[in-house]
Amino acid sequence: MKERISRKVKSLSPSGIRAFFEYASGVPGILSLGVGEPDFVTPKPFLDSAISSLTNGKTQYTSNFGLLELREEIVRHTEKIGGPKYNPKTEVCVTVRVSEGVDIAMRALLDEGDEVILADPGYVSYEPMIKMAGGVPVFVATDESNGFRLSAESIQAAVTPKTKVLLLAYPANPTGMSIPGDTLKEIAEIVKANDILVVSDEIYDRLTFEGEHTVFSSIEGMKERTIYLNGFSKAYAMTGWRVGYVCAHEDLIEAMMKVHQYSIMCAPTMAQYAALEALRSGWGEMEKMVASYKERRDLIKDLLSDVGFPMPMPDGAFYAFPSIASTGLSSDEFCQRLLKEQKVVAVPGSAFGKQGEGHIRLCYAASVETLKEAFERMKVFLEGIKG
Ligand code: PLP
Repeated sequence: MKERISRKVKSLSPSGIRAFFEYASGVPGILSLGVGEPDFVTPKPFLDSAISSLTNGKTQYTSNFGLLELREEIVRHTEKIGGPKYNPKTEVCVTVRVSEGVDIAMRALLDEGDEVILADPGYVSYEPMIKMAGGVPVFVATDESNGFRLSAESIQAAVTPKTKVLLLAYPANPTGMSIPGDTLKEIAEIVKANDILVVSDEIYDRLTFEGEHTVFSSIEGMKERTIYLNGFSKAYAMTGWRVGYVCAHEDLIEAMMKVHQYSIMCAPTMAQYAALEALRSGWGEMEKMVASYKERRDLIKDLLSDVGFPMPMPDGAFYAFPSIASTGLSSDEFCQRLLKEQKVVAVPGSAFGKQGEGHIRLCYAASVETLKEAFERMKVFLEGIKG
């Protein structure tokens, strides 16, 4: 019998996050700090915009590039946050989430064997998407000693003649760490000197609590070399709507469009209307949610110190990534046992790469009551381990 599944897909491991999500779903009394999504419901004006698009009969496809009004708002928003000016007609494409942006970027840029430099630990989808596009991931290790931050030197050390792409993500999942503007400028020099393209995933940009976020493509000479990815899931509490966007030079958009138009056609029309409203009127709503994540970041840092897991203060996103090495358990054992014994969901750091081992990821976009209760249970769990 012929092999049914392709070698590429066979070689992929299932997502370590999904596994914990599945264990936890449907179990009564579970407290989840597992899945990385806001605990807010999408703000009402965005919902209303989607509903009125439907009741007004806007149920057809949009342009493959997405609604022009939305692309124009994306361009305005990007400039407002310090990014370069993109042409809404030729340099922007609305995608079905940022994940599609990563996928079409990799498929448009990579030939078999091309290398992509990226941080370890990092977002779980990157490695499979690089591999499915025929690329080879080249991981740059980060750890507590370098604040889980990529440095220009570590990137330079990973460059080879096969390096085609540098994949940046800041603030980062799972660590919450960002990359300061000065370091980004040093990285830009390496990118120029080695003729590398950059895919910059800035989905958590508005969730930056320390310092200012620098849009990578705003650095001199980087607009032409960068595929800038952003979206609505995190900052606008719209994970279920599946809308994101890519901005890049016309030739790169044209190449990504070839993949997007055949596999996706266009992002869902009503979701694009919700996103349009988010950019038109949602800044205040977004800022309120971000302020509340910042308060909860400060709270979780204290709660973690209380249970003996100090960690560097994350710059942004809504994740804490403390070391649990002192318990002597692997990150997988820790999370399995915490779930089984105390019904608290955390994600093992190993799900995010080798360097994640010895850590757990906690998403603190949960209510203050949930966070406090989860840590009460964590204390009991840790007492049990000691005992
Ligand atoms: N990029 C990063 C760094 C993420 O952490 C996530 C989701 O967790 C995504 C992209 C996916 O976002 P979207 O919901 O837009 O696909």
